[in-house]
Amino acid sequence: MKVTEYFEKAKGQTLISFEVLPPLKGGSMQAIFDTLDPLMEFRPPFIDVTYHREEFIYKKRTSGYYEKVAIRKRPGTVGICAAIMHRYGVDAVPHLICGGFTKEDTENALIDLNFLNINNVLAIRGDARKFDGKFIPEEGGHTFAIDLVKQVVEMNKGKYLYEDIENGLKTDFCIGVAGYPEKHFESPNLDFDLWQTKAKIDAGADYIVTQMFFDNKKYFDFVKRCRAIGIDVPIVPGLKPLTKLYQLNSIPRIFHIDLPDDLVKAVQSAKDAEARTQAGIEWCIHQSKELKKNGAPCLHYYTMGDSDTIRQIAEAVY
Ligand code: FAD
Repeated sequence: MKVTEYFEKAKGQTLISFEVLPPLKGGSMQAIFDTLDPLMEFRPPFIDVTYHREEFIYKKRTSGYYEKVAIRKRPGTVGICAAIMHRYGVDAVPHLICGGFTKEDTENALIDLNFLNINNVLAIRGDARKFDGKFIPEEGGHTFAIDLVKQVVEMNKGKYLYEDIENGLKTDFCIGVAGYPEKHFESPNLDFDLWQTKAKIDAGADYIVTQMFFDNKKYFDFVKRCRAIGIDVPIVPGLKPLTKLYQLNSIPRIFHIDLPDDLVKAVQSAKDAEARTQAGIEWCIHQSKELKKNGAPCLHYYTMGDSDTIRQIAEAVY
């Protein structure tokens, strides 16, 4: 079933969903099951699986020189989606990125997904590779997420890259895109970013999942501003608990978001690691309850392999 159909069927009830990362290359599928098994009792209708482009690493050779090599550290998104659907009987939403894909690679990936009966995708651009400094698209690939959305929409109409395919199978993908309550870091301002988000919806995207945020006001403002410019699709808040001291710096650095003062103080003043984790969990529970009370269509938790914490939050909220 499509993600948006779940929202329609829920008739205003707030659903729950989870996002998992493929294990590092050499790891096993069991790591994903270990994360999800304790969470399935909350009955998520769908689970997202992230996609990771190849990264550059520098390898020291015997000559003493360093060689720049590309490696995909977290492969397996599509296989994980299939395994999740098989084990739990829920829908899986693979993330599909522009980076590293030519348009033809994308077309072939969509064909694979369609054959696997996966009919939801989250269409995103992907981040810059380490050492690239800025996002560099694959030659013959897409530069922005909107171009990816357009390609999926074309396939939904049965239009493939090669015009000599007549009566091509019409896929039926439901398309999610990313949204940024605190703006995407490359955008000159929030309004500019909102209009780019609107363009993705106008191009055919069906719903938005937000970047994580720790201040609900940012989400409520974002939804209000989206509605004001005519974005009328469901906007799913993305949530992650902050449970470690180092995350006070790493989360703003990596995700380009602010942390509210009260959260920072609560984490800093906790007497030990356990109390810190608890403070982060309490914060996320409070956020979740408020979002639910205010009619968010779904709470989407970034698990990052930490099912214990997410479980405690889900237990308190659902
Ligand atoms: P876009 O929508 O293309 O926007 C990127 C930037 O370009 C924005 O600043 C936008 O305002 C600007 N822009 C867009 N269109 C135009 C235009 N026509 N002209 C000028 N500027 C424009 N990354 C991964 O690698 N794998 C994942 O699985 C993954 N999952 C994610 C899930 C969610 C819910 C979110 C919020 C992010 C995820 N990311 C993931 C990170 C994402 O790839 C980065 O945030 C990336 O930098 C932007 O992706 P986007 O789809 O928002 O890009």
